[in-house]
Amino acid sequence: MRLLRDDALDSANARLGTRFWIFPQPPFIPGYEEPDRVWLSIPRDEIGEGPSDPTMYVVDPLADKEPYGFNQLPPFGGAKRAPPRPGPDRHFDNLRPDSRAFLDVHAYACVRFVLDIWQSYLGHPIRWFFRQTFPRLEIVAFVNWDNAHAGYGFLELGCSDIEGVRRPYALNFDTIAHEIGHTILLSEAGIPTAPSRDSDFFPFSEAFSDVVSLISFLHFDSAIDRLLRRTRGNLLLYNELNRFAETSPETQIRLATNFRRMSETSREVHDRALPFIGAIFDTIVELYHRELVARDCADTRLLDFDIRDLELDDFDRFRQMTAGAFQVKPMIFRLALTAARDAVGQALAGALQVLDPNTLRLDQAANAIISAAGGATADVLEANFAWREIMTRR
Ligand SMILES: [Zn+2]
Repeated sequence: MRLLRDDALDSANARLGTRFWIFPQPPFIPGYEEPDRVWLSIPRDEIGEGPSDPTMYVVDPLADKEPYGFNQLPPFGGAKRAPPRPGPDRHFDNLRPDSRAFLDVHAYACVRFVLDIWQSYLGHPIRWFFRQTFPRLEIVAFVNWDNAHAGYGFLELGCSDIEGVRRPYALNFDTIAHEIGHTILLSEAGIPTAPSRDSDFFPFSEAFSDVVSLISFLHFDSAIDRLLRRTRGNLLLYNELNRFAETSPETQIRLATNFRRMSETSREVHDRALPFIGAIFDTIVELYHRELVARDCADTRLLDFDIRDLELDDFDRFRQMTAGAFQVKPMIFRLALTAARDAVGQALAGALQVLDPNTLRLDQAANAIISAAGGATADVLEANFAWREIMTRR
């Protein structure tokens, strides 16, 4: 039998990357029923069945598996489902999104997509914090468990169960991006070995992971498109960005569009993370507005508003101003949003390596991010961190 000759792998084309499908939001969210076809940077000749590559691999247990914990760590040694294989062209966009094997491929693609983004911001490959024990990350695509967690050597994905409707987290980009956010922080800043009593490492880790999810979501062309079309360029209508851990309204505990200040939070880590997430989100929106004003797409008076104080009338006025400009020059809006996104993403990434995980406080993290930003981005970040009572103005 003559095997299909893969021309692409014989040529430089194999280095161009690999195609996958990703749902930017879980497919049960209206408007997101169809996945996006994305190119990931990893060359086709570096990905094997599973998928697997030199830094990570997916396993899909055949029977129910106990979640990993203190006593149980990778590698998974039980019986596994057959690993998905790429198509004859060696791309992984060959599987039907409703097939069981798609879960494995989708989970892998989400992790790689997030890594591509954050490695770009960092300027270097992320080296796992557990690399001395496990050279590769194990992604468990499905466990019968209502949770998802990343830990020492693994990312494990269960399924939400809301009134009997089970939805695998392997299809939930937000959840995966959030968990990989934790892994990125530990890999770049280090593991807290003896955190001080007033350390904010864990609240910061929750905030950072939500922001990783938010900024990574903004890297889907289709997501930016939908967001801008739906809001006619007016991001003060937040809805779409606000959906992080998309399960149900009851379990959606991570909100970027909150108006909380530090004096209004408890010590609970997710609660204490909220002002930080809010400050980052407001900064992206404000930088976006500034860019629109600079490019003559919004009235300059907009910069005089504090977006947290906007009344309904102000909303309407801004909506009219921008809707007209958006109709004529939508590409400028897209550029403004990607510029704002990347200015903030770059600043966050630039701050990670100067953080001390044992003594980290939120004001130190804020200062490190501002220092890594510079220019107008630093000014906007500082104003927002100060408003949130995370730091006093420098
Ligand atoms: Zn978390």
